[in-house]
Amino acid sequence: MDALPPSTGSCHAGRETMLSAARSAGKSAVLERLASDYPQGPHDQPQSMCPAFGSLRVGLRMRRVATILCGSACCVYGLTFTSHFYGARRTVGYVPFNSETLVRGQLYEDIRDAVYALAKPADLDAIVVINLCVPTASGVPLDRLPKQIDGVRVIGIDVPGFGVPTHAEAKDVLAGAMLRFARLEAEQGPVARPRGASDLPTVALLGEIFPADPPGIGAMLAPMGLALAPPTPAREWRDLYGALDCAVVGAVHPFYTASIREFAAAGRPIVGSGPVGLEGTEAWLETIGLAANISFEQRDAARAKALPAIRAALEANPIRNRITLSGYEGSELLTARLLVEAGAEVPYVGTACPKTEWAQADLDWLESRGTHVQFRASLEQDTQAMLEVKPDLAVGTTPLVQKAKELGIPALYYTNMVSARPLFGAAGAGSLAAIVAAQIGSAPRFARMVSFFQGVGTEATAGYGTTGVPTEPAGFRDRQRKMRAAKVKSESAVGT
Ligand code: SF4
Repeated sequence: MDALPPSTGSCHAGRETMLSAARSAGKSAVLERLASDYPQGPHDQPQSMCPAFGSLRVGLRMRRVATILCGSACCVYGLTFTSHFYGARRTVGYVPFNSETLVRGQLYEDIRDAVYALAKPADLDAIVVINLCVPTASGVPLDRLPKQIDGVRVIGIDVPGFGVPTHAEAKDVLAGAMLRFARLEAEQGPVARPRGASDLPTVALLGEIFPADPPGIGAMLAPMGLALAPPTPAREWRDLYGALDCAVVGAVHPFYTASIREFAAAGRPIVGSGPVGLEGTEAWLETIGLAANISFEQRDAARAKALPAIRAALEANPIRNRITLSGYEGSELLTARLLVEAGAEVPYVGTACPKTEWAQADLDWLESRGTHVQFRASLEQDTQAMLEVKPDLAVGTTPLVQKAKELGIPALYYTNMVSARPLFGAAGAGSLAAIVAAQIGSAPRFARMVSFFQGVGTEATAGYGTTGVPTEPAGFRDRQRKMRAAKVKSESAVGT
């Protein structure tokens, strides 16, 4: 194993340095696969939380699965903190390293020992090991770990911030790796039956969705004689077999490229979009029904059952405002469709996720209604759109919401407020209007706050008790300039 050179051995080394170290350490194939699955956008580095959180979260939410991180202590601290902030209630495993164990290759041995110590078939179905930035750049070869130890599967994945642009796509890195493992197992012979498996043909939903949504979607599918398969990301190992055994995949989150590859390899048809709003639900039920070879009568019965309730919910909860929407969950286009169907004007949607063919139907629908959709949107693009459009409500990420509130624009945090509500069917159609109205109703309060705090705590007056422009110590800049010049001179003298 070629370790990251000591002079660059940290995640502060910069993206290009990390990439070139990873390539020379034998990770070229991994990086090429990541680059093709998750193409970079205008911003080539994550602008939200550490991407590896997505993989970690998927591992931690599965029963009888242990998840081990391998990375710098500061990264692991942040990821562990965030996991527990979001209620993981599970142990996050950690194999630490130092410069010596990294450079000598001892780290791989330490990971291997940890995996062997943990692999108790009475407790676990699988162990997930996640390489963070520095071990990936150093070429720690997780692919050399044993595939199984006493029946406990071992899945090693590289999830570097310089290769996976968002934490949403990192969910797919692990989900796809697990589906691949399960698919190859199923191809070898009989596998465990998922709990509560249906005898009906099933639809496997792809993407983390609000827990109340699947029962509603299941009810919409029932008239077609279809049931729901276990969702992906899975909650239990045997659920992976159930998902792979589906009649059709509903890629409600369209960026799960690696997972879709596995479903396609299993011969399953894939359908994009989701049952959102009236037109969205009608189109989705039709496409799913056709993909599953359901008769016209049954498709018609499904429409007749689902659509009146959605129409009534939309009519009872109209939204008559201008709204911009941005996020990194992957459901932004679906949410925008629902807002537009409820009557909102949505001139801009930004998503940190990439454009894939499974997003095309939603993209076409939104563009035909005058919405500009920005894939791989950067915070700067989202902010600029909000400034230009001057919406009644900005739905977005934390920094965007902060900026909006500074300007007195009512704003909603997408992850906690919007994606934590039902989105699909009649429940979704009725859920958004209330929070939109409540937040827009607070516009006068925002205006009062802006005028009250005008000029306080900004620019030179930022910080407690600072009221004027701070004065610079005499000669400070000059001394610093001379020190820098002397350092450059001394370094060039020894030829470093
Ligand atoms: S693993 Fe990489 S992206 Fe994640 S916190 Fe560490 S340096 Fe940042």
